[in-house]
Amino acid sequence: MENIDAFRVFLNLPRKAVILPHVKPDADALGSSLGLARYLNRKGHEVTVLSPSDYPDFLNWMPGNESVVVFDKKKQATVKSLIANADVIFCLDFNSLTRINEIGEMVQVSTGKKVLIDHHLEPDHFADFEQWDGKAASTAELVFQLIEQLGDEALVDAEMANCLYAGIMTDTGGFRHSNTNYKVFQIASKLVAHGADPFTVSKLVYDTNTIERLRLMGFVLSQKLQVIPKFRTAYIALTQEELKHFGSQTGDTEGLVNYGLSIKGIKLSVLITDRKDSIKLSLRSLGEFSVNELARKHFEGGGHRNAAGGQTTLTLEQTVQKFLDLLPEYKQQLCAE
Ligand code: 5GP
Ligand code: MN
Repeated sequence: MENIDAFRVFLNLPRKAVILPHVKPDADALGSSLGLARYLNRKGHEVTVLSPSDYPDFLNWMPGNESVVVFDKKKQATVKSLIANADVIFCLDFNSLTRINEIGEMVQVSTGKKVLIDHHLEPDHFADFEQWDGKAASTAELVFQLIEQLGDEALVDAEMANCLYAGIMTDTGGFRHSNTNYKVFQIASKLVAHGADPFTVSKLVYDTNTIERLRLMGFVLSQKLQVIPKFRTAYIALTQEELKHFGSQTGDTEGLVNYGLSIKGIKLSVLITDRKDSIKLSLRSLGEFSVNELARKHFEGGGHRNAAGGQTTLTLEQTVQKFLDLLPEYKQQLCAE
């Protein structure tokens, strides 16, 4: 953070803080938020973590989860006044106010200081303080570095460390993605020194499947995964009926997109799901091919070079068709080397 001294001075007084992860927070967004919340609490600030939507049950173990406010339309007035009265609003793991739906507008008009902590590409510059690094593998690392820069590493306890470790572990795909670098292991190792427990966190996040989720996975792999060798592409399209049939819960489709990319020779994998209000796309790529650019240009989204998301207001069939029609345009990039 460039203006770290001003930020330190700002935090010298007890503040009313709101921490926002992005809509449908993942382990990095929620873990970073709860880790930071615990730190700010220990520093004497009054903190509310406000999630723009629900999130998967496999994140409920995180310390502080019980006091997360989950936004819904009925809470509109309370949330509006919470944000209007905040001295400081932290935006974690996203960099455009469109990623927090109707809360974005409330943040925009609030007089509270805004702090961005994020690692997604092409950030909007709406914040007074920015802890941004597009090369960082996770937001959790940036939260840890900020605490270090504030001179408070000693305040990191096991609860905080587990939350942040979960963010690093999941955003690197269990320390396997191309974003897994020296810094990742360095910070993960410091978190373990502060009490994070890699085995427990990995069990809680990865090994708490329901049988319905496993059956959905089996169905998707055997019936729904499509491969187009000439574009080195794999995709899965899931209807609402299919999701309903398997009793799908928030988070149940997470990770499915990675199976496409695990096929030898595949460079682009996309999961397209019908989410009632909109069609959601989850995109993954290997190497130079940028799904951030693809999602930004064609699917109102963005993210990282090799992992991004987006949406459309088309039907599922139309979205699949739009995606398939785009592939010839990208053939050269997809089939290079
Ligand atoms: P996922 O496919 O796991 O939902 O998301 C992959 C990455 O892209 C994550 O870092 C996520 O935050 C980001 N992402 C997902 N959906 C969107 C979106 O609609 N807009 C933007 N800008 N980023 C997204
Ligand atoms: Mn992240």
